[in-house]
Amino acid sequence: MTTPRTISVTGASGYIASHIIEQLLKEGYGVRGTVRRTASAYPWLTALKGAAERLELFSADLLEAGSFERALSGCDTLLHTASPYVINVNDPEHDLLAPALEGTRNVLSACQRAGTIRRVVLTSSIAAVTDEPDSRHTFTEADWNSRSSLGRNPYHYAKTMAERAAWEFMEREKPGFSLVVLNPTLVTGPSLGPGVNTTNGILRDILTGVYPGIMDMNWGFVDVRDTAAAHILAMNTPEARGRYLCSSGELTMHEVVDLLRQNGYSGYRLPKIDLSSKAGTALMKMLSYTQPKDTGTFIRTHIGRAIHISNEKIRRDLKMTFMPPEKSILDAVGDMISQGHLADKKS
Ligand code: NAP
Repeated sequence: MTTPRTISVTGASGYIASHIIEQLLKEGYGVRGTVRRTASAYPWLTALKGAAERLELFSADLLEAGSFERALSGCDTLLHTASPYVINVNDPEHDLLAPALEGTRNVLSACQRAGTIRRVVLTSSIAAVTDEPDSRHTFTEADWNSRSSLGRNPYHYAKTMAERAAWEFMEREKPGFSLVVLNPTLVTGPSLGPGVNTTNGILRDILTGVYPGIMDMNWGFVDVRDTAAAHILAMNTPEARGRYLCSSGELTMHEVVDLLRQNGYSGYRLPKIDLSSKAGTALMKMLSYTQPKDTGTFIRTHIGRAIHISNEKIRRDLKMTFMPPEKSILDAVGDMISQGHLADKKS
């Protein structure tokens, strides 16, 4: 009998990482995950099938160089998902940039020192590709976000700087491992843990009256289970190279609202006023100044601009297939109801 390969996963508690770990355990791998609290704080991980025998959790912090060593021991692959995923913060440099950028450098240096790692898969984001969609352009892996800063979409800035640092590290150090990067769009779908991820929070906000009207905005969507599967394909495809945009498809806010209305959610406070005209966009740009600072910036850089994303490379190289965004969104909402994050008013 062969011993199962053991995979190291940073940010094991996270929304995406929890699904990666569930799939890895299901496929028979051992997992060494990193977390920031004691294992008893993560019952949804320790209760996974196979966890008792094949999941070990280690304490590590992105800002503590050297804290990842134990989690890498005996592993040939690291999936680096840990990074703060929040849009509004008090101190973007401390709360977003430092953990994303220093964390990525610390983790890659730890892999180099470990000496056994042959592949790193880094969870970057569409945020490292653009923070200002252009309706006439289809984004590909060749596009880089060059506009964000600490003052403008700082989450996008932190993700861009972290991914750039990873590629610079590879160029400079030429370590004994290859790097493959995934750039997911908005990740939706059920959560294994008890929290509501930032992206599913957008769906909850749409259902609970947070949005005054339907804006001229669209998003790329990808399901969390597909995102997890993409990480495993990226680690297991020797010829995988470079970045991979990870997106199932785009939906406008109008389409999301219609989807929810047509699937039994009309009893919720879905936005009714159509603000998707040019006048509506101008009004929403003005109103965006009443929002928390970084939400306001995000609205102003995205409203009135449709995003189009090519998923050709990931489908071709990794043989990735995606479930439709509509299914992922409905599964996310159903899960938020069953976990008590949304009142059950479904008809
Ligand atoms: P999440 O649930 O908030 O997970 C983030 C993970 O990072 C958590 O495990 C968190 O640990 C960990 N983390 C944050 N700061 C840390 C620090 N200083 N030291 C150690 N660990 C730290 O978010 P997610 O959606 O799964 O995101 C995972 C990755 O996917 C992130 O890199 C994010 O940028 C990227 N991504 C997400 C989306 C999306 O729509 N969800 C889209 C594109 C890319 P704690 O539990 O201890 O806080």
